[in-house]
Amino acid sequence: MNRLVIIGTGLAGYNLAKEFRKLEAERPLLILTADDGRNYSKPMLSTGFTKQKTADELAMNSAADMAAQLNAEVRTHVRVARIDTAAKTVTLESGESIAYGDLVLALGADTFKVPMEGDAAAEVLSINDLMDYAAFRAKADGKKKVLVIGAGLIGCEFANDLSNGGFQVEVVDPAGRCLPALLPPEASAAVARGLEGLGVKFHFGPAVKAVDKAGDGYRCTLTDGTVVDADLVISAVGLRPRIALAKEAGLAVNRGIVTDKELRTSAPHVYAFGDCAEVNGYVLPYVLPLMGAARALAKSLAGYPTPVSYGVMPVQVKTPACPVVVCPPPVGSQGSWQVEANGQDVKGVFVGSDGKPLGFALTGKATEEKTALAKTMPVLF
Ligand SMILES: Cc1cc2nc3c(=O)[nH]c(=O)nc-3n(C[C@H](O)[C@H](O)[C@H](O)COP(=O)(O)OP(=O)(O)OC[C@H]3O[C@@H](n4cnc5c(N)ncnc54)[C@H](O)[C@@H]3O)c2cc1C
Repeated sequence: MNRLVIIGTGLAGYNLAKEFRKLEAERPLLILTADDGRNYSKPMLSTGFTKQKTADELAMNSAADMAAQLNAEVRTHVRVARIDTAAKTVTLESGESIAYGDLVLALGADTFKVPMEGDAAAEVLSINDLMDYAAFRAKADGKKKVLVIGAGLIGCEFANDLSNGGFQVEVVDPAGRCLPALLPPEASAAVARGLEGLGVKFHFGPAVKAVDKAGDGYRCTLTDGTVVDADLVISAVGLRPRIALAKEAGLAVNRGIVTDKELRTSAPHVYAFGDCAEVNGYVLPYVLPLMGAARALAKSLAGYPTPVSYGVMPVQVKTPACPVVVCPPPVGSQGSWQVEANGQDVKGVFVGSDGKPLGFALTGKATEEKTALAKTMPVLF
């Protein structure tokens, strides 16, 4: 069996297929996905109102178009339930077994669900793919007020976008500031001020304890007793790489599905990359790392083993109310932020204990220093 099987039609799965087809036009290619297989750019989900795009307008191609373009079979709404690395098969939830020559896991990440009380806790929305976004846009029609749970990258981007769309937005975060995992406090404060300028109201400190139905909307009770009424509640508290399928198949997993620099998992002929993977020790759930990995893996699968290299990859946070560019220091780095702040313009450089810069965070006009600072950063590997 010579067939290449890719699980996932997100940016990872489809970009790998495109890169692979540049090198091998004819090898049988099967792409399996639990969703509808439409090709879209996930970062656009948090700028839909600003750019005035519905879910259908964000979809660039149907699954059938992609199959034709890629000379591939694309099977949608099928969920892989098991992988047998000895027999080299995957089994769908329906029980159907599919053989592979090489298998690529491009499974993405799951939204993290915070446990909450209340009779409407299950109605809290997460927006992590185009189908979620379509459901959200249908529910948001005619609504006025949204509570966003989580002031991380995705929560702040949605707060900005929903404000641009004319919604009244409140944000709750127990961590006490915006993008706490990525920014020094001075930069977090600049982002909060920018969003407050649009009318966003923050509740820093408490968490959401309960979400109950109230008329056509919801009554949310925070752990400090504050009550927030909203028409819709969105959870944006973070993502966890989808590792369960790999773990059950006996593959090495840690924070993500463990791979080496050639994107090889611990099982022969099985590869992983994108949001589900931990590549050479790094979980980087962003577009630039997966694009580089797709190019490298395509070459390896075409018979030219090619390690991926992770260079300096700054991330632009889509909060135009306070522009942010961040190049996070590797998780667990020892060191401290050195910050110069002038109103909304904040320049933070994370300096390691050996005195060398390891990351940076820029807001406002300081984002203009991105290119110069990026040159001073170490490549990851
Ligand atoms: C709102 C938002 C904004 C973002 N903005 C930015 C940004 O500005 N810049 C940036 O760099 N990054 C951004 N990101 C992150 C970036 O979008 C992701 O890193 C990237 O899209 C992940 O792609 P993926 O293909 O790995 O995963 P996904 O797009 O999640 O694809 C996973 C695929 O796997 C399939 N799948 C999973 N399990 C199974 C199974 N068992 N059987 C069959 N199919 C399965 C799913 O159906 C899906 O097709 C953003 C993320 C979000 C949510």
